Amino acid sequence: MAQMYFYYSAMNAGKSTTLLQSSFNYQERGMNPVIFTAAIDDRAGVGYVSSRIGLEAQAELYAPGDDLYVRVCEMNQSEKVDCILVDECQFLSKAQVYQLTEVVDKLRVPVLCYGLRTDFRGELFEGSQALLALADKLVELKTICHCGRKANMVIRTDAEGNAIADGDQVVIGGNERYVSVCRKHYKEALGL
Ligand SMILES: [Zn+2]
Repeated sequence: MAQMYFYYSAMNAGKSTTLLQSSFNYQERGMNPVIFTAAIDDRAGVGYVSSRIGLEAQAELYAPGDDLYVRVCEMNQSEKVDCILVDECQFLSKAQVYQLTEVVDKLRVPVLCYGLRTDFRGELFEGSQALLALADKLVELKTICHCGRKANMVIRTDAEGNAIADGDQVVIGGNERYVSVCRKHYKEALGL
């Protein structure tokens, strides 16, 4: 049976690397994996997923209003799709996560989603909330805090490295603007 997977973590746990490795494994077996990434993230140039260790692959972009079940049905008609991989899946809408469950349940195509669980305020993203509710398998990709504990929180920092507690949920950055820390150091950084 095809299943929906949610691979979640804090920042810099190697999500994109893991996604690209999975895609490669499908291709190696002569199969046709399709990668989606959020149109919001153009760090690697539009339509690419890249990892910090230098791997890169082309990706389909998804925008907030797209019906992903319809998109996958159309692709599947021109060439059989064997797997859907979604990068930055925290940016999926609740409706899009449901559409991806239809890909699993009606088309019997596995869907592997990779993204953040919570934002820098410690709150669930819309896509992550829906995935926690609907995915068949939840898999945590671990990264560590500077103290050695598991990092399950993300702090956003300003240019001077000071943690900031409010602002828009969505700002695409790199290592310089987000830091993964344990819950204890998250509280300390925000003076909680
Ligand atoms: Zn810590």
